[in-house]
Amino acid sequence: MADLFDDIFSDIVDADEVAEELLASLVATIPYGAIGLCSAEGVPFGDFPAGCVAGKQEAFDQALLSSDIVAVARDKDEPLYGYRLRTSHVILFTIPPHLPSLLADPYLYKLYLNSFLLLDCKADTAQAVIEAKQHSRHIEVLKQQHLKMVDANHEQYLQLQKKEKEYAAQLEADIAAQTRELREKNIQLEEASRLKSEFLANMSHELRTPMNAIIGFSGLLLDTEQNAEQEDFTQTICTAADSLLVLINDILDLAKIESGKLDLLSEKVDLGDVAAGVKNMLKSQAFAKNNEIDVVVADFTGVEIWGDPTRLRQILINLVGNALKFTEKGKITIRITPQHGDPQRGICFAVEDTGIGIAKDRQDAIFEKFTQADSSTTRKFGGTGLGLTICQQLVTLMGGEIGVKSVKDEGSTFFFNVVLETRTPEIEDETKVQGQTVIPAGQSVATGQASREISVLLVEDNIVNQKLAMLLVKREGCRVDVASDGLLALEKLRDNHYDLILMDIQMPNMDGLTATRRIREIENSPERGEFACLKKAGNHITIVGLTAHARAEDEQGCYDAGMDLFLTKPINKTKFSETLQSFKNLV
Ligand code: ADP
Repeated sequence: MADLFDDIFSDIVDADEVAEELLASLVATIPYGAIGLCSAEGVPFGDFPAGCVAGKQEAFDQALLSSDIVAVARDKDEPLYGYRLRTSHVILFTIPPHLPSLLADPYLYKLYLNSFLLLDCKADTAQAVIEAKQHSRHIEVLKQQHLKMVDANHEQYLQLQKKEKEYAAQLEADIAAQTRELREKNIQLEEASRLKSEFLANMSHELRTPMNAIIGFSGLLLDTEQNAEQEDFTQTICTAADSLLVLINDILDLAKIESGKLDLLSEKVDLGDVAAGVKNMLKSQAFAKNNEIDVVVADFTGVEIWGDPTRLRQILINLVGNALKFTEKGKITIRITPQHGDPQRGICFAVEDTGIGIAKDRQDAIFEKFTQADSSTTRKFGGTGLGLTICQQLVTLMGGEIGVKSVKDEGSTFFFNVVLETRTPEIEDETKVQGQTVIPAGQSVATGQASREISVLLVEDNIVNQKLAMLLVKREGCRVDVASDGLLALEKLRDNHYDLILMDIQMPNMDGLTATRRIREIENSPERGEFACLKKAGNHITIVGLTAHARAEDEQGCYDAGMDLFLTKPINKTKFSETLQSFKNLV
């Protein structure tokens, strides 16, 4: 604002300056006459001479309209002359009385006119100088303004830079704090997840150990002489224990899936074998209810399917088990086909039954945890409502979907599809099996065949489990000795000969995995001479893992330690017997 006032003020001063200079030049040009100067509006400048007053207005008006010197005749006085300068100032003047009239003397007239033209030029120059001065003043002002703006901008820039730096530092600190927090949370989560899986593994082990005793001994009790009532009680215990085991397995499975701890295997899968295995397992149940199980598996020759056969079997067992449970005298069909005729696009599994069916409005709900189609189901058929949830979770893990189509009182079809890896088959060595299995897969149990009595070392710390396993081993016609941990087992191997070791995993002093590794080490070193059982060069004693740690990784851990076979607790009597009999037939 102050600059603006400066500017206006300087322009006013300039106008005066021009007039002043003009007047000075005029006085110098016409030294003897009277000279007055007016603005374009007729306002006289400075002390207006008395000699120029008469005829002033007329001379002024004429001069304004003309580009020449005009003359106004006055009675007694000399004429008053007027001339308009290019600056728009009007000069009013008289000439000394001794000079002829300007209009009468063309030379004098020319002289005056040239003087005025010169004045114009001078005024122009003066104007130009003044304008130049004004311009430089303006430039100076602008320069000052510009400098101020530059300073202000620089200041702003510095402030912005400072703010930016502060912001970046804050951001970095925030990110570092967040990263730290996330890392800590991650560590906590990992720890929680580790504790959860440890808890699951321990729970599983702790639950299975007493279940082993209940199922094992009630099974043995059934084989003894009992009256009808006792037999009924024992049978009830057996059935309840079986249901409890199914429930424990379901809950543990679900907890494992939900904590993301279930890893799927990738093995070659024979879909025909999977379906046949399911049928085989449930055929007695089907027979008891007058149900028939049909298996229809498409031809998958020319392509190898890779996936987790155990989990596929688990889903099918669940679905076929349900179909049997909810079908009175009918037919259950297991159907396995490639999706749209191409195994690479997926494999479709379906379990069809002719049972009680499911009402339309309950068909979604049954896949939820602890949910059944209607409350009467539990009363009539039992069950926990966990089976389908587990199936759904497993199918989702395999990247597929599960669903049901059902008509009440007509039957249901449960179907799921999974995308499994497909490979082109290689010519393979059929005798190659996992681990160092001494009993070739699929070898039949030659019961009744004459075979020599074999000697078994049972390594087990739990007294009840010792008792049960000893009874089961003896029933297979074998001798049995017991060691209650790995260290004692090694001691026994020094002085005694055994054909087979049944090895528990979790034991005090020395666990089963360490003991197995130690035995394999001794077998391959000169130290074997000190062990009656391992003395013979090339001897490989068969070790069977027998444990309540039933996870796939536990099984793999046993093979990695050097075991030959793996059995889980609660002991499945049939599998146990088959294993011992097969072994007896081989030695
Ligand atoms: P559970 O059988 O232990 O109750 P599931 O999750 O396996 O648990 O099944 C949930 C419910 O779905 C069953 O209780 C039953 O009501 C219904 N359901 C499952 N399969 C069938 C079937 N094949 N026919 C009729 N109802 C079925």
